[in-house]
Parts: sequence; C-alpha cells; structure tokens
Amino acid sequence: MFDFQPNETQEMIRETAKQFASRVLEPRAAALDRDGGFPSESLTEAAELGLLGINVSEEYGGVQAGAVAYSLAVTELARACAATTVALCVSNMVAEVVEHFGTSEQRSEHVEKLTSGEYVVGGFALSEAGAGSDPRGMKTRAQKTDKGWVLNGSKLWITSGTHAGLFVVWARTGGTEERPGISAFLVRGDTPGLIRGKPEHKMGQHGSTTTALDFEDCEIPEEALLSELDRGFPIAMMALDGGRIGIGSLALGVASAAADYAAKYSTERQQFGRPISAFQAIQWMVANNHTELDAARLMVLRAAWLKDQKQPFSREASMAKLFASERGFGVCNRALQILGGYGYTQEFPVERYLRDIRVTSIYEGTSEIQRVVISRDIARRFAEAG
Ligand SMILES: Cc1cc2nc3c(=O)[nH]c(=O)nc-3n(C[C@H](O)[C@H](O)[C@H](O)COP(=O)(O)OP(=O)(O)OC[C@H]3O[C@@H](n4cnc5c(N)ncnc54)[C@H](O)[C@@H]3O)c2cc1C
Repeated sequence: MFDFQPNETQEMIRETAKQFASRVLEPRAAALDRDGGFPSESLTEAAELGLLGINVSEEYGGVQAGAVAYSLAVTELARACAATTVALCVSNMVAEVVEHFGTSEQRSEHVEKLTSGEYVVGGFALSEAGAGSDPRGMKTRAQKTDKGWVLNGSKLWITSGTHAGLFVVWARTGGTEERPGISAFLVRGDTPGLIRGKPEHKMGQHGSTTTALDFEDCEIPEEALLSELDRGFPIAMMALDGGRIGIGSLALGVASAAADYAAKYSTERQQFGRPISAFQAIQWMVANNHTELDAARLMVLRAAWLKDQKQPFSREASMAKLFASERGFGVCNRALQILGGYGYTQEFPVERYLRDIRVTSIYEGTSEIQRVVISRDIARRFAEAG
C-alpha cells in the first residue's frame, strides 16, 4: 500500500532541495522574472547537488532516489522559482529517457553529461507549430544516408532551447501520411544545421527560455537513433507520463507558496480594526486553498509511488497533473484576492505565482488531453472487464 511517510533518502533529497531553493533560487527569482535570461548558474549548482539526476542511477552520476523523491524535490524548488524548476524537470526527464531507452554507448556518452551539468540541461523536442496536442502530425523528417541521418524541419516551444546541450528530437522516418513512422534521435546542441530560435515572450516563467529549433540539413550519425526505428512515439508518451508527475509537483509547489504567503498575510493585514483572517470569507479561501493542495499533494505522490513500484501510473499521473495545475491556478487566484490591491503589484510575489502556474495546464499535455488520457484508460478497463 502507498506509504505516506517519506523514507530517509526521500527526506534527504527533499531537504537538500528545500535548502537550495531558499539559499539560491528564492533570492534570484524576482529578478529572473523581471529581467528574463537563463538561470545557468543556479542549474550548475543544482547539478552539483545531484538535482539533475534524481531518478537516474549512480553509475551515470544520478542519485537514484526514485520518483517520490523527485516529486518532493520539485515541489520544494518550485515554491521558490518555477522557471528554474521547469528547466530542471525537463533535464531530469531527458536523462531518464536516455538511461531507459539508450544503448550502453548512448548512456555512457550522454547521461553523465546531463546529470553533471556539462550539457547545462537537456531539451525535449517533440512539439511543432502545427503539431502540439497531436504530435503524430509532425512534419520534421529524418532522411537516411550512408553516414547516418539528415534532419529537416522545425520544432516549436522547446524549453531551454537557448542553452540545452542535448536534445531528444522526434522526426518522421517512414510510415504513411495518416500513420507516420516516428523515431527519436539524440542531437547535440552544437550540431551544424541545428538553429536555435529567439525566446518567446511569455506570460510567466520568464527565466525559462522557450524557443523554436530549426533543422536545416542537420547531419547526425547513425548512432544518434534512440531505440528502434519507427518506435519513437511510445518513448515520447512514456516520458510524458513521468514528466506529468514533475509538472503536477511543480504546480503544487507554486500554489503552496502562494497559499502560505496569503494565509500569513491575512493574519497581518488589518481592516475594520482586526486582521482580515477574522473574516469568514477569508477563512474559507484559506481553508479551500490548503484542502485542495493537500489533495493535489496526495495525488502527485501516489502517481510517483506507483512509478517507483513499477506499476502502471499513466492515468494517475494525468489526474495528478490535471488537478494540481487547474486547482493550483485557482489557489493562486484566491491568494491574490486575499492580498487585495497589493496582490496585483510586483511588490509581492503572488502575481508572479499566478502567471507562472498558468502554463502548467498547457505544457506536457493540456488539461483537455489529460482528460482524454484519463477517460480512455477508464473506458479500456471497463472494456477489459467485459
Ligand atoms: C512555455 C511552454 C513550454 C513548452 N515546452 C515544450 C518542450 O520543452 N517540448 C515540447 O515538445 N513542447 C513544449 N511545449 C509545447 C506544449 O506541449 C504544447 O503547447 C501543448 O501540447 C499544446 O499544443 P498547442 O499549443 O499546439 O495547442 P493545440 O494542440 O493547438 O490545442 C489548442 C486547444 O485545443 C485543445 N485540444 C486539442 N486537441 C484536443 C482534443 N483531442 N480534445 C480536446 N481538446 C483538444 C487543447 O487542449 C487546447 O485547449 C511547451 C509549451 C509552452 C507554452
């Protein structure tokens, strides 16, 4: 049965992340949000603490602490800075993908460079301008040559596109127009023909760069193919199942920071001669915030625990991400309401939390796509039961 008590290793990772968040991320978060840029320095320090390979084996420089430890750490980090945390999440996901699906040569070549920060971070290049919720509609192609492969096409919305040292890139390699064969490739950031776009101007998570990647006759070697030819799509889907635990945990962290900030504020702000926490309207908002976050916490940890037990967790990860991101947004919105006009200014962090959390119900699959995943799984189980 799911054990709610973190073990010693999980607690140690959580504590490491918490201290790193308050010492390094928190003091830099507001300036990063205001000025943009990329948190290379913070990510290098995170790598030194093992936070770029939380669920990666020690053989490749990871700390092998599992998905629950990963979820606990991400929640702590996101309380301080969602932008740095999302770059870290994607990099952890890429390291896990290469370790899980790579040959021993690919693992030796790339995984330690991801966990050590030598690659700065990893990038996950699936989406395109015309292929977001439906990535099978991608147009990027990999053409076989005598020496390896040539990539042509464009990816869009790639987190850390400006700085990542390694990308997992999905491209068409065959099949039909309706049912394309899709393969995954490991592409170094410095490969000629890979052109990084300029960062998008986004509503939030300003310290996480999101760019296009263009591939113009980009030659990659034979051994860049990850796993088998035309078997790349299940890799993306499996990676996203795990990734959704990360994004659910990230949303939980941001919303927890907002809820706690607002609850404390409500005990200090005086109106009508008493703290606003004396008004039932405020008490209900505080109570709803913390109740919903408790539910989100249990959901992300259950999905992580199932992953650690090597049990199916796809539905639970989608449910956790759906709930944590949507309710987390509601929590941030209530937190801003509790701060009144002050909440709407940049003097206080709550408007940043609200902007930062919004995208968690869009990336790594929108809320609508999570509902598709969940309802399909429910239908499948009824069909199997007859
Ligand atoms: C900041 C940011 C970072 C990102 N990082 C990455 C990254 O690192 N790597 C990467 O590959 N991608 C990344 N993405 C892309 C992200 O995963 C996509 O934006 C997302 O999957 C949605 O695709 P779309 O934007 O094309 O929306 P669309 O697919 O065009 O969807 C538009 C609307 O239609 C709805 N919709 C679509 N299909 C259905 C359906 N079948 N049923 C019901 N509703 C549906 C959607 O839910 C949405 O509301 C990032 C996006 C953002 C904004």
